[in-house]
Amino acid sequence: MRVNEDTDRKDARRSRDGYFGPYGGRYVPEVLRSAIEEIEAAFVKAMADPAFAAELQRLRSDFIGRPTPLLHAENASRLLGGADLYIKMEGLAHTGAHKINNAVGQVLLARRMGKRRVIAETGAGQHGVATAAACAKLGVECVVYMGSTDVDRQQPNVATMELFGAKVIPVSSGSRTLKDAINEAFRDWAGSFADTFYVIGSALGPSPYPDMVRTFQSVVGRETKNQLAERGVVPEALVACVGGGSNAIGFFEPFLDLENPRLIGVEAGGIGPGPGEHASRMTGEGARTGIVHGYKSRFLLDEDGQVAETRSISAGLDYPGIGPELAALGRSGRVEFRRATDAEALEALSFIAKNEGVVFALESAHAAAAAISLARSLRPGKAVVVNMSGRGDKDLFITAPVFRPVEWKAFLERELAALNAEGKK
Ligand SMILES: *Cc1c(COP(=O)(O)O)cnc(C)c1O
Repeated sequence: MRVNEDTDRKDARRSRDGYFGPYGGRYVPEVLRSAIEEIEAAFVKAMADPAFAAELQRLRSDFIGRPTPLLHAENASRLLGGADLYIKMEGLAHTGAHKINNAVGQVLLARRMGKRRVIAETGAGQHGVATAAACAKLGVECVVYMGSTDVDRQQPNVATMELFGAKVIPVSSGSRTLKDAINEAFRDWAGSFADTFYVIGSALGPSPYPDMVRTFQSVVGRETKNQLAERGVVPEALVACVGGGSNAIGFFEPFLDLENPRLIGVEAGGIGPGPGEHASRMTGEGARTGIVHGYKSRFLLDEDGQVAETRSISAGLDYPGIGPELAALGRSGRVEFRRATDAEALEALSFIAKNEGVVFALESAHAAAAAISLARSLRPGKAVVVNMSGRGDKDLFITAPVFRPVEWKAFLERELAALNAEGKK
């Protein structure tokens, strides 16, 4: 435990004045400056306080269910005929993904600061669910902003957030999705920061959020490093999917200052390389430097400099920007970027499911696709570790119509008929 506390503290600041190379910064309206400075000071103080570390550690073990296992994918490795594949089973964390690590950290900080109310943005709903769960556990009021299109598409997550006692507010401006939810959350915060903490869900936003989110997620990388060392495995490469970048930067963090292993981030290749067909901010066409949502980084922008439409089968990888630290690491070459298409992600998902009895979330399946092709190309005896950022239960409404279209449609029709009959009684 001592080790964890020390490393948490050491890694709490990687940015220089909030910048990672040319990216990052704090581009917020004047009215929010003091709110963000207050968070920065509280974060630095909390990370140096053994009482905070002890409480976080207790929640990690008892509430989140840490450490999550590291699984040797022996069957898959044998079939691939190359390197050994290992899976960091982050999807076994409470609420099904890595998002809870950050949500618990930030909500604990909010409570320590005496904030009685937490707000969050959510796209598909995973960050909203994690934040709502953390707020329920820690006794803080929770309001989640969600684009109205996403509310319509993601009813199971809306229901879960409400079950945790959160209030979900549909946002019907702009494209009615994640970027509009973020704008609305900032608007709320500008008028409410005296008693409200804004919990951002990925390693992005104005400084110190990228530092803070990485710090709360780096437990994933530290565990992986220890679990590999215990087995005497020296990894050739670590592979993670990249939406905003929180699971990747947390997974990579303890390895960033080393020459090895290779660190590979995988973006959503969607249905093709054309405009609006993917969400590849590092390797895709139409990706440029911009300032959006309070930070400078690489974004998918249209000709007018407006945030462009993106596309991916996985709701967690379709954000148009990437966290500033990963953008800088991509530029310096320490992190390599690849992309996987919708089809490649689905193929990897079913390969691992059949051979390992583990269903990846669609986001994580993009990382699996890249890890599988890398493992195939390497010699036996080498090792590749993929972060399963989430488990696939949440994607049933997307994967079932793909893998079993006829049966699934018939099932939904029967369910609907039964509900209608019930309603008539
Ligand atoms: C949200 C999400 C992601 C993408 O977010 P990052 O901040 O890039 O990690 C990836 N995987 C899962 C399972 C998610 O829920």
